[in-house]
Amino acid sequence: MKHANDIMSKKEKLKKLIFRQNSGLILRKLEALNREIRNCKKCPLWKLRKDTVPGEGPINAKIMVIGMAPGRIEDKTGRPFIGPAGKLLDQLFKIAEIKREKIFITSSLKCLPQPPINRKPKKEEIKACLPYLEKQIEIINPQKFILLGEIAFSTFFPKKELSSFRGKWVKKDGKKFFITYHPAAGLRFPKIKKTLEKDFKKIRRIISF
Ligand code: URA
Ligand code: SF4
Repeated sequence: MKHANDIMSKKEKLKKLIFRQNSGLILRKLEALNREIRNCKKCPLWKLRKDTVPGEGPINAKIMVIGMAPGRIEDKTGRPFIGPAGKLLDQLFKIAEIKREKIFITSSLKCLPQPPINRKPKKEEIKACLPYLEKQIEIINPQKFILLGEIAFSTFFPKKELSSFRGKWVKKDGKKFFITYHPAAGLRFPKIKKTLEKDFKKIRRIISF
């Protein structure tokens, strides 16, 4: 019996070692990407930014949440979704029983759209920034995505209507995408906030932590 236990523990140790080596590699890749983003001048948004906001979360996150672009507070701190829209997102996570620290949170753009502050991002800016999101997905390899709002949605489903996909899980390239509104819209329109709450209740039924 002792022999079998020894074999098991050797297997476990090997698994842990491989995971540790892999996570080291993933971490180094993400750090290199973040450095690239920090120095990026691929679109004019670099000129007025205080900080870039690459995103944050565990390197082995199974879920990635994608918003539109950093706001004023995110630009100041370099952290995603910590301003007013982030506060609503935290409430929605509670409804879905999602632990924020278990998911990777990012946005389609990594710099604050301005001037004026918080304007809609331009097509060229979205296009210039997209390779960073693609690289993040390649490195972290999450299986599920929550897409917040039109910009994130159209990145994955170009030329499609958000309204016909909203509140649903959609499969694409072996990954699952849940489509809903952006929480910033929920702050402006009570009806959208209600819909967001309904949508995140649906997420709770599918995701278990
Ligand atoms: N809105 C976003 O889309 N992303 C953020 O990080 C903050 C607000
Ligand atoms: Fe670079 Fe993206 Fe920032 Fe534009 S928004 S400067 S592409 S990181």
